[in-house]
Amino acid sequence: MNSKMKSAREISLARAEILKTRIKPYLEAREQIPTGLKTSDAIKKRQEKIKEVLGATEEQWNDWHWQIRNRISDSKTLGKFLNLTEKQKQDIDKVGESFRWAISPYYLSLINPDADYLQDPIYLQSVPTGFELADTKGIADPMGEEFTNPAECITRRYPDRLIINVTNQCAMYCRHCQRRRNIGEVDKPRSKEEISEAINYIKNSPEIRDVLITGGDAFTLSDELIDWILGELDKIPHIEYKRLGSRMLVTLPQRVTPEFCEILKKHHPVYVNTHFNNPMEVTEESKKACEMLANSGIPLGNQAVLLRGINDDPHIMKTLNHELLKIRVRPYYIFHAKGVIGTMHFKTSVDIGIEIMEQLRGYTSGLAVPTYIINAPQGKGKTPMLPEYLISHGRDYITIRTWEGEVIHYPNKDAELTSK
Ligand SMILES: *Cc1c(COP(=O)(O)O)cnc(C)c1O
Repeated sequence: MNSKMKSAREISLARAEILKTRIKPYLEAREQIPTGLKTSDAIKKRQEKIKEVLGATEEQWNDWHWQIRNRISDSKTLGKFLNLTEKQKQDIDKVGESFRWAISPYYLSLINPDADYLQDPIYLQSVPTGFELADTKGIADPMGEEFTNPAECITRRYPDRLIINVTNQCAMYCRHCQRRRNIGEVDKPRSKEEISEAINYIKNSPEIRDVLITGGDAFTLSDELIDWILGELDKIPHIEYKRLGSRMLVTLPQRVTPEFCEILKKHHPVYVNTHFNNPMEVTEESKKACEMLANSGIPLGNQAVLLRGINDDPHIMKTLNHELLKIRVRPYYIFHAKGVIGTMHFKTSVDIGIEIMEQLRGYTSGLAVPTYIINAPQGKGKTPMLPEYLISHGRDYITIRTWEGEVIHYPNKDAELTSK
């Protein structure tokens, strides 16, 4: 071999050096991104204080009913835990007149009371701010859900699957909620009669093979009611699997008990999709809840929403997806925020979403790359958004570019088959 020619090993080493430079900016940024697991000591300390003020035992703290009953929903109580200015309190009270809010003591413990609240992704998702009232552009129902409602509790936008909305209740009322028009002032779990109407519609629709049970938050229902709904769906021969939608893994992970897991296990195949938006939400508690479900044979997916100030940054989104995979949750979707009234301050450009996708594909595991989705208005369906990888498209050749931007011509032909 010519001594001037590089060996395969030398070429590989040079390539590996280039790959190391590709990941460097992320490795540096990652140092600065707080996660729920990195800050677990501080969270524990805040939990001790909240328990003390609310007079809760360890057992009560771990009881999801206690967490729901003790949700904080007035600025005075919130002021016992966070250093609120007069302006913040006024904003909270004023928003409270138009839009409901409530925070579980658990989720509250993730807020750093000493940090600038406008920089705190947990505060911004859970505590009302003046931005909500300043919004004059948002509308109540950009998805036109009332026009995709063929039976009680049902939203149907697709040929083979549909949603049953079983409740308007949630453990927490997210400030970016897309269904805030349904949240109202009181909790309205649907009655068994109303849910039966939905189940009858499904029985009479043999093309439906996949049912999503959501709300509100499906996990706010009692164990008994969830058991009953899943059992009714199991009796329908054309239902191939069920999915439950819940944010309680994030906002109230104490919901996941061994008894609850036993119930879900009886009804396989069951899938659960949840809604983590920021790595601070991946905590000891949420990790435990996700692992209990995963150990019960339930595949877990995450549906994040792209939100300004929460996760509109490629490094934060990448860290979130890595934290999720570590707790066995597969990133499934990133939704572009909708133009819902009171939430417009969270809305980013589509460019930011595409840039995030650009900085995921190739740079990290395919497992950590969800699909970025725009929900077309008026319920016209989820529409995937991707950076442009197909540069031009001819009959015989296409031009593509790789994740690193290298342009390549690639044949667009069937293989020629020859036989003797
Ligand atoms: C999102 C959604 C679904 C599920 O869509 P997938 O892409 O299958 O996860 C089903 N029905 C409605 C009405 C939806 O909005």
